[in-house]
Amino acid sequence: MIVYQLNRSNSVLNSFLSEIRNKNTQKDSMRFRRNIERIGEILAYELSKSLDYSKKSTTTPLGVKEINTIDNKLVICSILRAGLPLHQGLQNYFDKAENAYISAFRHHPNNDNKFEIVVEYLASPNLDNKTLLLADPMLATGNSLVAVLEALKKHGVPKEIHIVCVIGATEGIEFIKNHFPKNTHLWIAAIDNELNEKGYIIPGLGDAGDLAFGQKI
Ligand code: URA
Repeated sequence: MIVYQLNRSNSVLNSFLSEIRNKNTQKDSMRFRRNIERIGEILAYELSKSLDYSKKSTTTPLGVKEINTIDNKLVICSILRAGLPLHQGLQNYFDKAENAYISAFRHHPNNDNKFEIVVEYLASPNLDNKTLLLADPMLATGNSLVAVLEALKKHGVPKEIHIVCVIGATEGIEFIKNHFPKNTHLWIAAIDNELNEKGYIIPGLGDAGDLAFGQKI
């Protein structure tokens, strides 16, 4: 897996990261969603540099210009519900992409810290030979992404996979490296070193789904 960690160099990305992590700014859920979306746009732009391009002619009112444009057949798949603002950011730039949605939630059968990932809902186009962008804002244990990869298998075999995340934990990244194809790319804004006993990223930002859409029961 090829990992691109975008906050390695200073950019406006850091301002958006700082706001989504800040417990006071987080109270403004519209700002939280919009910042995740803006981070999605930055990740999309960086990711776009790794895609396949070929020259095509564009006719202007005054002549013809050859421009390199994207050839990949893109499918953006987001993991519900926290993935939705990130999905929007990717879609803002990859406006011709097809879209897939999948649910994955943590089920705690014994009401303790142990959980299993339950995938219930999946709506996806055929993935054969497509470039699959998997949007998951928080890459914590990596279990959701692996469950999603497994569930998507019945929809075809993508040519390549790009995982798009906002914050990841080192442990989760190591875990997914062993489960995704070698040519998978991981585009991630920031990496934190710790996971707590509940599988939350430390310091992370808390629960991205709750912060974007409100607490669930
Ligand atoms: N999901 C979140 O929203 N936050 C975490 O820290 C881990 C998983």
